[in-house]
Amino acid sequence: MALPEWIKKFGTDAACQAYLSSQHWPDGLDCRRCDGRKYWTIQRSDRTTPLYECAGCHYQASVTGGTIFHRTQVALSM
Ligand SMILES: [Zn+2]
Repeated sequence: MALPEWIKKFGTDAACQAYLSSQHWPDGLDCRRCDGRKYWTIQRSDRTTPLYECAGCHYQASVTGGTIFHRTQVALSM
């Protein structure tokens, strides 16, 4: 799917994030280090997308890792 169609479909960054999260972790975040299921998000000023940090081992994962948005420097809906 081309990026502009994405934006029309999802409308907002939040909707894109929710979709990407569901694609990455259909059953919720599953920490690849400790299998933890509890996590929180971290919004860093140098990133356009939040990181997910495992509450158990502090492993950090990015929702855009390995997707078409990986390394992108612009907001998802721009
Ligand atoms: Zn963990």
